Amino acid sequence: MSDRVRCNCQRCTIRSLMGPGILIAVGILFLLDQVRGGHFSFGHTFPVILIVIGVISLASALAPADGHISAPVPSAPPGTSPPSSQNPFSGQGQGQGH
Ligand SMILES: [Zn+2]
Repeated sequence: MSDRVRCNCQRCTIRSLMGPGILIAVGILFLLDQVRGGHFSFGHTFPVILIVIGVISLASALAPADGHISAPVPSAPPGTSPPSSQNPFSGQGQGQGH
């Protein structure tokens, strides 16, 4: 599993709920399609998926990003991006490759 650094800010937490939320919504809609049919057929209820995606993305956009961790290096000072250029003098690059 190539999971990235887990950020504990609310924005990333809500954003991580996007996938499971969509799966649950699709599952519920297909279940309604199987059980009820008619008005609850998937052709009628599929906009709920769009609503779920919109609500979750809106909530993640409005959520505060306090304590957001974007870089995998924990000792990086905020505001300064780590040097991504290939500097031969710096031997402590984060992307070591092989
Ligand atoms: Zn975050």
